[in-house]
Amino acid sequence: MATTTDTHKLLLDGDWIETGDWVDVRSPYSGEVVGRIAKAGADEARRAVDAAARVLESPLPAHERAAILDRVAGLIRERHEEMAQTICAEAGKPIKTARVEASRAVSTYTFAAVEARKLAGDAVPMDASEAGEGKLAFTLRRPVGVVGAISPFNFPCNLVAHKLAPALAAGCPVVLKPASQTPMSALLLAELEQEAGLPAGWLNVLVGPASQIGDVLVEDERVRLITFTGSSGVGWGLQERAPRKRVRLELGNSTPVIVAADADVETAAAKLAANAFSFAGQSCISVQRIYVERPLLDDFLGRFVPKVEALVVGDPADDATDVGPVIDHDNRNRIAEWIEEAEAAGARVLTGGAGGDPLAPTVLADAPERSKVVCEEVFGPVCVVNGVDSLDEAYERANATDFGLQAGIFTASISTALAAAEALEFGGVTVNEAPTYRADQMPYGGVKGSGNTKEGPAYTIREMTEERLVVLQR
Ligand code: NAP
Repeated sequence: MATTTDTHKLLLDGDWIETGDWVDVRSPYSGEVVGRIAKAGADEARRAVDAAARVLESPLPAHERAAILDRVAGLIRERHEEMAQTICAEAGKPIKTARVEASRAVSTYTFAAVEARKLAGDAVPMDASEAGEGKLAFTLRRPVGVVGAISPFNFPCNLVAHKLAPALAAGCPVVLKPASQTPMSALLLAELEQEAGLPAGWLNVLVGPASQIGDVLVEDERVRLITFTGSSGVGWGLQERAPRKRVRLELGNSTPVIVAADADVETAAAKLAANAFSFAGQSCISVQRIYVERPLLDDFLGRFVPKVEALVVGDPADDATDVGPVIDHDNRNRIAEWIEEAEAAGARVLTGGAGGDPLAPTVLADAPERSKVVCEEVFGPVCVVNGVDSLDEAYERANATDFGLQAGIFTASISTALAAAEALEFGGVTVNEAPTYRADQMPYGGVKGSGNTKEGPAYTIREMTEERLVVLQR
């Protein structure tokens, strides 16, 4: 049972409220309750939208928004260990990885503060046409309105930061629904935003049934933009249900990486071993499919598999742990079934397998292209290594998916790198770096089934503002 110190209220119109009902948050590792959160429903969601819509009538100037964002960055730095421990407790993320996530949230707020200070429209070259002669014109960037933000379990602090910080920079109030399994990091961020001076109504955080809160965000016309990070089915479903809103989607991937015959094999093996299994493969850009040109395949596997076997699996709170549990038992069992299905279809298990709990990092070879571990998003500690006869075959197999978030290639040749950047149909291509790489100012986002936007404060702010044209007769 949770203690009183683990009890969290919800932030609604500047007040921390209880609702009489609670959601328990459990450690994915021990199963113990690590937090008890007041549970919201449709009523609270409607009140949150009322509060957010009201503050649009008293906008904050850019310098005040930027100053709040800078103060939040400072507060996360001050309470860095508390944030990391919260991420670790609720997500089961190894503490050393959780510390990196907390540090990245400092970057995200800092970049948003910079962007808030630069937010401006463009001059229009009016005398470039006869029709424009004698006129001056420019655009203003206006906040789009109330933002509904829905976030996933896997980066419960920094992916929330990627929604809250740009929204404030853009001048948009937010109704946030964090993942029910990991809401405490978001509530801690909300507390820090308040401490940094955010006025009432600008941020409202609701934890509760996704469909009830999601329905209000979809149906209330005052919510002008929904920013969603999560699974494809839910994301595209929201887009279909809200055709007149901006629905910005950051979805999944089945991340491929190519190791060309001329690659630095030791570097490729080291980077890929770390990045296929970080947070037990529960990153949207976790390395899942590795295509190695055949001349290098044995050498690559001879280096890669021992590095994977050296990863420490265990308690996420332990500083030595590299790989913890996946988010819950249903997902553990689903991933184990997918490994077994691939084995039954002819895949060889080079290390790991379906038996452990937590699941051990698992490397499969020769998994058929139709098996789920190849063609769907595993979101677990599994990767598949296959030999290919040519780079063209590698591009074709890498692209043979509806996903398109990030992909990567290891090669010593600039021309191969450039050819790969052209051939790979993904939102981002990394060269001599695992495609799991992300820095928070990058334009990050997918194509095809992986989404329809880029996140990164400057890019998100563009989405969260709209241009208003002003034309002046001289
Ligand atoms: P999920 O199940 O889709 O949940 C994401 C969020 O959507 C949660 O807050 C969830 O609430 C909410 N939700 C579920 N059903 C909803 C509905 N009908 N209406 C409104 N909201 C709804 O995803 P997840 O398991 O948390 O996260 C894993 C997925 O996220 C993976 O596919 C991963 O690739 C993707 N992801 C993408 C990125 C990116 O930047 N592209 C980054 C991280 C993760 P509840 O928790 O209450 O169910």
